[in-house]
Amino acid sequence: MNRKAILKQEQKEACKMIIEMIEASMALSVQKGKHPLSKGCNCIVCADRRKLILKETETDWHYRL
Ligand SMILES: [Zn+2]
Repeated sequence: MNRKAILKQEQKEACKMIIEMIEASMALSVQKGKHPLSKGCNCIVCADRRKLILKETETDWHYRL
């Protein structure tokens, strides 16, 4: 196998791994049902909530001349 083919294979495997991770977190979310945001939870809903919290804490720069 040449270098390009090996790189493509590695990309495919990485993509597959990411999709599997997302699917596992979705399955965990379905399995857990409705639950509050908890520290160690890796379900897709908690991950999205964490992302939202981080987004809200980003401060906009305001300045006056
Ligand atoms: Zn969760």
